[in-house]
Amino acid sequence: MSFVIPSVLWRRDPETEEIPLVFDSPHSGSHYPEDFRFSCPLETLRRAEDTYVDELYAAAPAHGATLIGALFPRSYLDPNRGVDDIDEALIDGKWPTPLAPSQNTRAGLGLVRRVARPSTPIYDRKLSVDEVLARIERCHVPYHRVLDETCTRLHGKYGTVWHINCHSMPSKRSARDIGRPADFVLGDRDGTTCAKEFTEFVTVVLRRRGYDVRINEIYKGVEIVKRQGRPAARRHSLQIEVDRSLYMDQKTLAKNSNFAQLQADITYLIEMLGHFARERR
Ligand SMILES: [Zn+2]
Repeated sequence: MSFVIPSVLWRRDPETEEIPLVFDSPHSGSHYPEDFRFSCPLETLRRAEDTYVDELYAAAPAHGATLIGALFPRSYLDPNRGVDDIDEALIDGKWPTPLAPSQNTRAGLGLVRRVARPSTPIYDRKLSVDEVLARIERCHVPYHRVLDETCTRLHGKYGTVWHINCHSMPSKRSARDIGRPADFVLGDRDGTTCAKEFTEFVTVVLRRRGYDVRINEIYKGVEIVKRQGRPAARRHSLQIEVDRSLYMDQKTLAKNSNFAQLQADITYLIEMLGHFARERR
């Protein structure tokens, strides 16, 4: 069975015996709403997407897990930011409540992005308070509600829930920042959003497939794992970033010849996580 909120999100439920394992892909949406009214080229904006990440994890429901994906684009509204993580420079007028802009937000990459990489302004105007509030109501609120309801229901039924927050990272950036490119970066906010054994299990499975896996380097996890991860309450949440050059051309956004191999390796990870979650119910 699956569930859809048009232009906002979809949820694909388990196709076999359910296990308390949830995947979500918050940045792979590419339905650009009419009221976005951006002024930069669409192809520049599209590079902010975690293109195809939902497809890489598409096997999750066949293995008893639940998969949730955003339909709206991340550059329109980023569900992986707090609702107070707003750049006041983008707003026309005064925001009605206190704001807590993060460092990324000051660089233009907040809840609503001001710039598309590389430093291209997205708008030729400021956004009204009502316009931003409408995006939060329409996208941020239901995304977190559906994810939270899913995890809460499974946790209530099985006493524990394992959640993976799925992303992809631009290849060049990891090469520049880390020195040599990592294939995967796992983020548990320095061990605070899940049991250590969860991060270790994913690391071992991916390393055995030949990948270079780093933990909490650059990408430590942001709003989604922060909200879902409460390991003391047996609610575990881990962020996974995969290098985009492993599966796509970052300029044309076309899949490359390695896509099927990476998808097969991620399907193997899902299967192994299925055993992991089943043994710990
Ligand atoms: Zn992402």
